[in-house]
Amino acid sequence: MKISIVGGGLGGLTLARVLHVNGVQSTVYELDASPTARDQGGTLDMHEESGQRALREAGLFDQFRAVARDEGEAMRLMDGRGTVYIDDVAPEPGGRPEVDRKELKRILVESLPAGTVRWGAKVTSVTPSTITVGGETVESDLVVGADGAWSKVRPLLSDARPIYSGLSFVEIHLSDVDAKHPDAAAFVGPGSMFALDHGKGVMAQRNGDGRIRVYLAIRAEDENWAGTELVDPADPVQTRLRLLELFDDFAEPLRGLIADADATFVPRAIHALPVGHRWTRVPGVTLLGDAAHLMSPFAGEGANLAMLDGTDLALALAAGSDVETALTAYETAMFPRAEEAAHDSATNLVECFEPGGAQRLAGVMAG
Ligand SMILES: Cc1cc2nc3c(=O)[nH]c(=O)nc-3n(C[C@H](O)[C@H](O)[C@H](O)COP(=O)(O)OP(=O)(O)OC[C@H]3O[C@@H](n4cnc5c(N)ncnc54)[C@H](O)[C@@H]3O)c2cc1C
Repeated sequence: MKISIVGGGLGGLTLARVLHVNGVQSTVYELDASPTARDQGGTLDMHEESGQRALREAGLFDQFRAVARDEGEAMRLMDGRGTVYIDDVAPEPGGRPEVDRKELKRILVESLPAGTVRWGAKVTSVTPSTITVGGETVESDLVVGADGAWSKVRPLLSDARPIYSGLSFVEIHLSDVDAKHPDAAAFVGPGSMFALDHGKGVMAQRNGDGRIRVYLAIRAEDENWAGTELVDPADPVQTRLRLLELFDDFAEPLRGLIADADATFVPRAIHALPVGHRWTRVPGVTLLGDAAHLMSPFAGEGANLAMLDGTDLALALAAGSDVETALTAYETAMFPRAEEAAHDSATNLVECFEPGGAQRLAGVMAG
C-alpha cells in the first residue's frame, strides 16, 4: 500500500511513526526545508487521553518524559488590573506536562527511518490517487491531508474554508528571561499566565529555551488589521508604542511584557473551520488534524487531537482490513470528538473575551 502524507506537522509525523511501528511504510511530503526551518511555536500541554496516548502508541513516551516540563503546568489567571483569580503554582505533576513543540517534533522526526520525510517538498496539486510535488506526480493508494489550516487536500472532500474568528494575536517574545528579565520571569512563573479584560488578553507562557512567549489577543473585525494597521515589521518602535497604547488599561507588569519584548512582532489572525465539519467518504483520501478540524487555541486541543488522529488512522490502517474500512472506522471516531473540542474552543473564545472574562473562566475552571 502506497501512503502519501501531505504535511509533516505533529499530526502527519505521528501518523508516519505509528504506521512504522506497526510495520507499514509511508512517505511524508513537507514544504519546510527542515524540521527547524522556522519557529515551531510555543509549548503544548500533552493530554493523557490524546497526546500522551499517541506518544505511547508511537513508542516514544520515555523520550517525551525526558523533555517534558511538569512545572510548566503552573497557571496564573488575572484580569487586566492584575487581580489574580487563580494562582496554581505547584499543581500535581504528571497530569498534563508541557513540552516545547520543537522538541516534540524532533523526537518524532528522529524516530522515523531515513527518507520517510521529504523536506522542502511542496505539494502543488492533489487527486484522490495522486499528488504532485516538485513537478513529479506520485501515484498513491491513500492520500492523507495533514497539511494544516489551509489544506490543499481538503477541497477533495469538502467546500469548507477556515473562517476568521474575530480575534487576532500579536506574538512577542522575551529572551533569556532569567538573566535579562527576572521580574517578568517571576511574574509569569514556570507555566502559563493569562490576563483577560475589555475584550483583550495578554497570554504568556514559559518555554523550555529560556524564553517567555506572549500572545497579545485583540478583538478586531478585520482579519488583516493586526498585520496592516498594528504591526509594521520595518518599524518595531512604532509597533511597540501602538501595542502599549492598546493595552494602556492593563496593569504595569502586563504592559512591561510588551515594553521588554524583543523587537519582533508577529501578527496572527485566528481562524476556525465550522464546528462539526465533516464530509462524505471519498475513496483513497482523508484528512487529519487542523486540515480536518481547525479550531481556535481556546480548548488547548488542536495539537493533541492531530496526534490522536494520526495514531487512530495508523492503527486502523495497520489492522489489516481494506483501506476504505479503515478510513470509515477512523472518521467515525474522529468526527464527534473533533466536534466536541471545536464547540468548546468556540465557546471559550467568546466567554474569555466578553467583559468579566477572567472571573468567568476562573468559575468554569473551579467548576
Ligand atoms: C497560537 C496558537 C497556540 C496553540 N496552542 C495549542 C496548545 O496549547 N495545545 C494544542 O493542543 N494545540 C494548540 N494549538 C493548535 C495546534 O498548533 C494545531 O492544532 C496543530 O499544530 C495541528 O497540527 P497539524 O499537524 O494538523 O497541522 P500543522 O501543525 O499546521 O502542520 C501542517 C504541516 O503541513 C505543511 N504543509 C502545508 N501545506 C503543505 C503543502 N502544500 N505541501 C507540503 N506540506 C504542506 C506545513 O508546512 C506544516 O508543517 C495552537 C495554535 C495556535 C495558532
